[in-house]
Amino acid sequence: MTLNISRRSFLASTAAAGAFVTLHPYSAFAAPNQAHLRILSTTDLHVHVHPYDYYADKPIDTVGLSRTATIINEVRAESTNSILVDNGDFLQGNPMGDYIAYERGMKEGDLHPVIQAMNVLGYDCGTLGNHEFNYGVEFMDKVITGANFPMVSANFANKLGADGRSDDLFLKPYTILERELVDGAGETHTIKVGLIGFVPPQIMNWDQRHLQGKFDTRDILQAARAWVPEMKEAGAEIIVALSHSGISTEPSVEGQENASLHLAGVDGVDALVTGHSHLVFPSAAYETGNGIDVEAGTLMGKPATMAGFWGSHMGLIDLMLERDGGEWHVVTSESSTRGIYERVERTNVPLVEDFQPVLEATQKEHEETLAYIRRPVGMTDAPLHSYFALVADDPSVQIVSQAQLWYIEQMMKGSEWEGLPILSAAAPFKAGGRGGPEYYTDVKVGPVAIKNVSDLYLYPNTVRAVMIDGATVKEWLERSVSIFNQIEAGKADQVLLNPDMPSYNFDIMDGVTYQIDLTEPSKFDRSGVVINEGANRIVNLQFNGAPIDPAQKFVVATNNYRAGGGGSFPGADGSTIIFEGPDTNRDVIVRYIVEQGTVNPKADANWTFAPVPNTSVIFETGPAGAGYAGSVEGVSIEPAGDGEGGFALYRIRL
Ligand code: MN
Ligand code: MG
Repeated sequence: MTLNISRRSFLASTAAAGAFVTLHPYSAFAAPNQAHLRILSTTDLHVHVHPYDYYADKPIDTVGLSRTATIINEVRAESTNSILVDNGDFLQGNPMGDYIAYERGMKEGDLHPVIQAMNVLGYDCGTLGNHEFNYGVEFMDKVITGANFPMVSANFANKLGADGRSDDLFLKPYTILERELVDGAGETHTIKVGLIGFVPPQIMNWDQRHLQGKFDTRDILQAARAWVPEMKEAGAEIIVALSHSGISTEPSVEGQENASLHLAGVDGVDALVTGHSHLVFPSAAYETGNGIDVEAGTLMGKPATMAGFWGSHMGLIDLMLERDGGEWHVVTSESSTRGIYERVERTNVPLVEDFQPVLEATQKEHEETLAYIRRPVGMTDAPLHSYFALVADDPSVQIVSQAQLWYIEQMMKGSEWEGLPILSAAAPFKAGGRGGPEYYTDVKVGPVAIKNVSDLYLYPNTVRAVMIDGATVKEWLERSVSIFNQIEAGKADQVLLNPDMPSYNFDIMDGVTYQIDLTEPSKFDRSGVVINEGANRIVNLQFNGAPIDPAQKFVVATNNYRAGGGGSFPGADGSTIIFEGPDTNRDVIVRYIVEQGTVNPKADANWTFAPVPNTSVIFETGPAGAGYAGSVEGVSIEPAGDGEGGFALYRIRL
């Protein structure tokens, strides 16, 4: 079923009824030589069709095209003329996408659920985001074949030519839609609206294994400067850029990932649908200045939107067009977004209901995805529990660390950092504390289901690599071990953990071995401020069996939170980032498990406490960890009775 509301021109008299006047006052009052055109958009849907968190296996109110669809329908119903576009990153990013790619596949005639949903809504055009390449070009091609609307991309090529116009592109660079436009006098005119699409050229690196040697990309601005004039020659009166690229005020450089601001400066571009950064524009996420005008909702004076991610918002660009000398041009504009939920105190309150036809069209795939997340996708030879993650090397952190390492090794191939040693930093997320005595990861030996992965990696962080030297590796670890209280030699049953420091700031590092001398004071306080300059808790720090060389450069795999300064770790303030992955750590873990088949994230005790004679410490963990206490590597743990609030106490003799 297809609803073609956008293509039907609602009469000006409907508009003049006034029901929508509060939304966009001028929309009702187009003069006889004027017409109002609305560009509705989604971006970065990442297969979020149903309002469901497949990792947690529960409904959620912050995602879902079925909800955005309701806003789309409302706005269309108020509009005389509208166009609906998608800005890319639609086919990967949640277990429904993985299910179709890894399990069900795309046989002849199969429709991808996200395309099915878009067909229900009658999209007018779409473009490719970087994540469309994650499962390979052949898969993507089968997916987009099902779209009842044109897909465009002006800078993804089978082969580059001498200049943009001679590139052998994989898709059409642009499309020109002829639409009936109703003007302020109720008269119908034909307008030619050009839509052109762009993807970050970085896909050649991010999806190197699918693209290298077979495809190529061109710089976004170069491609725009090549094709926009041709669109004009072909009669496009209004040109809308579908820019799967973020908004950055950094100077324009060739191959820029987030090029939307400079793209707005290209002559002939009238409006921009942006994305990729998963932010909202216009909003307080951006600052006015350097070409950005948050108040006006413009980039270089051109109206633009960025509609969040996962269906959280619908982007809306309102263009007041005027006809002068026979051709339409933009006289005024407004940009806005509309959210599917609002944050009230600490809860998310839905603002719209589901549009049932979207749910119905994809119900089968939704149910198949539920079965998929609940059934094994791989096996683990080690139990993945976090009961002792704060006192010993631990399988629940080990698997995260291994998956990050596996991924970053691939990403470094062919880069200027290829050949540098790679370390991996990861922290336990579910480790009791304020989460309570049941707040631990606990996946038994045997099958691993997708829904278990959310347990291993709670946050939708994305992968980063930083480059630091050996001296900074030590400082990073010194910062990390500020979770431990200082221990006095010769005393029994001292409290080991500082409850004020969250477990997610306790990074362990794989790829090096080290011991922690608990008798030293902590160099850092719990927020990362140096309090004991000369303190050295990290001892015997070794790489490849020899003391670490303070000057040796290392690549460290981590996440966007840490690499960007989260937790105030030395060497991780944003300035050391050498690689920004588009993939979430969680997706990388799923991919790692699926591709390995069986994983064995057995802790290897690469870090331990340094021995302190006649000294013991006490810590608390979940009582369900009892069965594992005897098999923790690198430390001997004994029960020490019951703690408070349902926790169990354990003792370590250092
Ligand atoms: Mn995205
Ligand atoms: Mg993207």
